[in-house]
Amino acid sequence: MALIKCGECGSDVSSNAASCPKCGNPIASAAQVRATGTPITTTQTTAKKFKGQQLAAAGVCCFGVVLMVSGG
Ligand SMILES: [Zn+2]
Repeated sequence: MALIKCGECGSDVSSNAASCPKCGNPIASAAQVRATGTPITTTQTTAKKFKGQQLAAAGVCCFGVVLMVSGG
């Protein structure tokens, strides 16, 4: 059993806990935290979301080009 930092409020939370007792923030897989040595930061989550949006935008652009070429 180890203590990890809550990503939301920064308080020490047991790695066995499913969520932070202070703010209720779900403790993302304790195994992942143990593997990397650091808790998952919100920055990484935001970056992943941003990358997904970029991919979606690129897909919409391609779809528009195809429509223009095929449909006029
Ligand atoms: Zn918390």
